[in-house]
Amino acid sequence: MSLKPISDIGEFGLIERIAGIAEPTLEAVPGIAEGIGDDCAVYALSPSKVQVATTDLLVEHVHFDLLTTPLQHLGSKAISVNISDICAMNASPRYALVSIALPSKSSVTFVETLYNGMSEAARLYKTALAGGDTSMSLNGTVISVTVTGEAVKEHLTLRKGAQPGDLVCVTGSLGGAAAGLKVLTREKGIMVEHLRHGESYERDILSNLKEYDEAIRQQLLPAARIDIIEFFHKHNIIPTSMIDISDGLAPDLLHICRRSEVGAIIEEGKLPILPQARHIADEFQEDAVNYALSGGEDYQLLFTLKSDQADLIAPHRDITVIGRITPADEGMLLQDIYGMTIDLETIEGFDHFTGKE
Ligand SMILES: [Mg+2]
Repeated sequence: MSLKPISDIGEFGLIERIAGIAEPTLEAVPGIAEGIGDDCAVYALSPSKVQVATTDLLVEHVHFDLLTTPLQHLGSKAISVNISDICAMNASPRYALVSIALPSKSSVTFVETLYNGMSEAARLYKTALAGGDTSMSLNGTVISVTVTGEAVKEHLTLRKGAQPGDLVCVTGSLGGAAAGLKVLTREKGIMVEHLRHGESYERDILSNLKEYDEAIRQQLLPAARIDIIEFFHKHNIIPTSMIDISDGLAPDLLHICRRSEVGAIIEEGKLPILPQARHIADEFQEDAVNYALSGGEDYQLLFTLKSDQADLIAPHRDITVIGRITPADEGMLLQDIYGMTIDLETIEGFDHFTGKE
């Protein structure tokens, strides 16, 4: 047996190995149209309809810190990050299964507050909380959410499908979640110092840090862009490829480029960076562009579109064209405001197993 640690191959290396072992099982079920490797697995329900399914884990001390995360927000985020993956398939969510592992000393109110947050988000996305499991945990809280959705077959949008000449588009603003995390991490340090000295501390993070509210909200309470999917359906817009931005613009665009076997060029000057993220980056003497490229957790949609459909998205104020798809041999580039190009493939998102960005 090999004793190679997971940190040697990283998160994507691990997923590749798991996919290799899982692949033979796909043949047993003829309806499976997409297995591991996209935002959701896809199963053909009928010749015209597909079911999509996704699952996400939130682990205490890895994905969230209870010192800086209001429980209701955590519940809401656990649902939103999954709905975001359903949206990334151009599908509509249906129901969620929620499993939770808790230390036995957790209070009943803790669990109820968490589920109230989930219930509020689920109602917003017209998704049913339809089942799940509970277990005792010896070390911290773990939340696992699985969400299913449905799409008309012609609407289904995968990571593959982008063609040279297509527009690269992004929704909303970027960099806010990473900037918010910076502020929260600093605040946690201050909080821990107060507690160490036996002093009380006002724990309402959002009202304490009003000047950073948009960025913190983006980190603690991201919203899945179901409104964009509804806009697509209403105007018969079908992107050629799509992904949600969970790892960062650069690594997520790389997923589209690899699966579609294309390259891309992005213009730095067109990136819709959250103004507050710029202020926070200045305060930390960092670059907000890096928050957008590799910070992740913005849960916006990154998609490509045939250039003759540009008129259809133009009226939408929350969709920005940031670049275009190129042939694979041109690579994946960022053109900065001076016209210099930077290789985006060298920028990676956060890897849970290597701990590196
Ligand atoms: Mg995703």
